[in-house]
Amino acid sequence: MVYYKTSEEIELIRQNCLLVSKTLALVGSLLKPGITGKEIDAKAEAFIRDHGAEPGFKGYRDFPATLCISPNECIVHGIPSDQEFKDGDVVSVDCGVYHNDYYGDAAFTFAIGEIEQDVMDLLMVTNESLYKGIEMAKVGGRLGDIGWAIQDYTQTKHGYGVVRELVGHGLGRNLHEKPEVPNYGKRGKGPLLKEGLVIAIEPMINLGTKSIRASRDGWTIETKDRKVSAHYEHTIAITKNGPDILSDHSYINETIKNNAEINEIPRKK
Ligand code: MG
Ligand code: MG
Repeated sequence: MVYYKTSEEIELIRQNCLLVSKTLALVGSLLKPGITGKEIDAKAEAFIRDHGAEPGFKGYRDFPATLCISPNECIVHGIPSDQEFKDGDVVSVDCGVYHNDYYGDAAFTFAIGEIEQDVMDLLMVTNESLYKGIEMAKVGGRLGDIGWAIQDYTQTKHGYGVVRELVGHGLGRNLHEKPEVPNYGKRGKGPLLKEGLVIAIEPMINLGTKSIRASRDGWTIETKDRKVSAHYEHTIAITKNGPDILSDHSYINETIKNNAEINEIPRKK
């Protein structure tokens, strides 16, 4: 069952997505070589609770933390650890909150210190692909248009691996609702996109092949070839005026600009 949201519900989800975005901005101000995922996670949890909300992931299917922190070859669902980050790390941070009976969800991949150009390119292309997917999220379009746009840009044009097993999702009173939103697909195929649909679009794109494997901790999903993976996510609402991006990466970009240890992710226009 797909739940279409009223504009009041969309505003509640927007408030949550803005808190998620500000939490990720806090992460962007803290990240540097020597800090650990656990330290960042504790600060993120306190920040969310100080704003009267609850971490959306903690306890969800027994996930133990506020943030999913997935460095380098880890794609998503990484558990914050005591491992110190180091120069050259690429770190996907995914955050959800729950407040006023609704969720919010967004993610950003940060690049610490000196990064190989091919890895920076992967981050930029993955981030751009998110917006190419969002552009297709309009009334009268098809769900397959979104995945097609992401796959066309990342795989067909740039030769990256598009993860198949993990997908975006509807979001509302539940963190994961129907429909699934794959990062691959056929143009003009799939369910019709209608006003009020709220979905998280989240390309997970690998520098190498699309193949993944589960790690021993039971949560972290990694690339099979151990090459780097990138992940950017927005929650959006489909309105009659087009896609409305409910999360806001500009908060993150602002703190990155002021953190000399973290690279900006430039977007071509
Ligand atoms: Mg997320
Ligand atoms: Mg998500």
